[in-house]
Amino acid sequence: TGLNHEPPTAWLAGPPPRGGRLHASHKGSYGDVAVVGGEGLALRGMGMTGAALLAGSAALHGGAGRVLVSLLDQDQATEIHTQPELMLRRFEALELESLSVVCGCGGGQAVRTVLPAVLQRAQALVLDADALNIISTDGALQQALTARSARQHPTVLTPHPLEAARLLHTTSAQVQAHRLMAARELAKKFQCTVALKGSGTVIAHPDDIPHINPTGNGSLATAGTGDVLAGLLGAGLAAGMMPLQAAIRAVFAHGQVADAWPLDEPLTAGALARRIKIG
Ligand code: AMP
Ligand code: MG
Repeated sequence: TGLNHEPPTAWLAGPPPRGGRLHASHKGSYGDVAVVGGEGLALRGMGMTGAALLAGSAALHGGAGRVLVSLLDQDQATEIHTQPELMLRRFEALELESLSVVCGCGGGQAVRTVLPAVLQRAQALVLDADALNIISTDGALQQALTARSARQHPTVLTPHPLEAARLLHTTSAQVQAHRLMAARELAKKFQCTVALKGSGTVIAHPDDIPHINPTGNGSLATAGTGDVLAGLLGAGLAAGMMPLQAAIRAVFAHGQVADAWPLDEPLTAGALARRIKIG
């Protein structure tokens, strides 16, 4: 009686997940992402809410259970017509301690006021764009970032070469000439995970050999693709992935969509976010 051999492992594994979701799961199983950014037109005449909404959309398509978007212009926040799955929240209403926060996409100077609380309290954190630019000129915020890492809160920086240059007080030409070294230096300086973007994104972590991502191409050189990466990374952290693994997976998947893109079709960031494949 009974089996005299091991059942095939595929049989043991159970039904395949659908859309990356296990059968007996609910939205709480996949974690919550909050995107903080998107300065509105009213503040300085520069509307950048799209950046935050793109990051939010990418987090949703990347598998996050719930995505909250906190636009840094409260008057506009209720007027925006966007993906109905995205939930708009005032920054003050975010429970940062239980969120994976993506901070900086289209943030403008408005992001300065939220950075101390975000660095102090966010459970996991992706810092992009203006969050990085502001940190590069503010010693107190740099200290808060390093202190956060010392408390072992997952943190990933996603600079493009110019943002990396500002953080390292050098030029983007120098960063580009020494990409591996620049990514490592940033990871060591702030004791966190770094994805130095561009052709061959370099992912670095203190005390690890840097990783060069093999996917992606020039079609990504268009507005908003960086915001999509930041949102996707937020979803990985919300799912409980370690920051280094989340960065490697997100950068790979992001580039993979671009590599599968029809050659005769221009890539747009919104469509990129919608075609993200996970798992
Ligand atoms: P950002 O500079 O923040 O707008 O982000 C642009 C995104 O597109 C990053 O993920 C880059 O790595 C990616 N990207 C831009 N240009 C290229 C390229 N020529 N090859 C591969 N990836 C690229
Ligand atoms: Mg960017």
